[in-house]
Amino acid sequence: MSTKPLVAITGASSGIGAAVAKTFSDAGHPVLLMARRLDRMEALNLPNAVCCEVDVRDRAQIRAAVEKGEAAYGPVDMMFCNAGIARLADIGTQPPEEWDEMIDINTKGVMNAVHAVMSDMMERRAGTLFMMSSIAGRKVYPDHTVYCGTKFFVHAVSESLREYLSDYDVRVIVLSPGIIETEVLGAVNDPNTLKAYQDNKKKIGGGIGPEHVASIMLHSYQMPQNALIQEICITPTRQK
Ligand code: NDP
Repeated sequence: MSTKPLVAITGASSGIGAAVAKTFSDAGHPVLLMARRLDRMEALNLPNAVCCEVDVRDRAQIRAAVEKGEAAYGPVDMMFCNAGIARLADIGTQPPEEWDEMIDINTKGVMNAVHAVMSDMMERRAGTLFMMSSIAGRKVYPDHTVYCGTKFFVHAVSESLREYLSDYDVRVIVLSPGIIETEVLGAVNDPNTLKAYQDNKKKIGGGIGPEHVASIMLHSYQMPQNALIQEICITPTRQK
């Protein structure tokens, strides 16, 4: 049984979430993995892991997964509110159902993950929330309209939460990555947007690996609880 505290990750079945699960597990933490693709989380084959099939749009599902993880490994000390989807597209022709999906997963899904652990962290006067925004939560891009909206939401909520939770010694850390090599582009249905994104990515020499995001997160988490790295903005060097 691990003596390190439990860390919880939404969107742990691929990309950045899977890399973070592996990095924190390698550092000795038990991990609670949440996403819809259970087989992909189980295939990571991490020790001291609880894998739960969760759709972050369902608040009760996240809460039930947290309860299951905590029954095995004690309180969640770190929640990575990471699950997200990027249906990038020309806003003039994008079906509004794609807006709904991004808004529900990237904003309400993040709040559902916060809600599942926040009151307990306040009571324990400990804990860390990592909030997945994006470089697109700091600046806008024309074919990222609703995606940018969801990520600006995460930035705003995180800054407000940070002020509120600082009195309870709970840390809030925003992540604003640039282009990271993951499965994220699989959600793009607009061929012109996809091509423009891929051309730009090629021009700057490609994205960086999700393991770099995970390693800086582990470093931030391992700082003493009274030291806070408020935001991590990590991009390929050549990304504008
Ligand atoms: P991936 O597509 O590889 O990972 C997305 C993860 O989110 C998957 O594990 C997926 O799991 C999960 N997910 C999506 N919808 C739901 C849902 N409704 N319920 C539960 N889990 C869900 O891409 P990334 O790793 O790149 O994306 C992770 C986060 O990083 C996203 O929020 C993204 O916006 C953000 N980001 C990514 C950047 C990049 O360049 N890659 C840059 C900046 C931010 P499953 O499908 O199994 O449910």
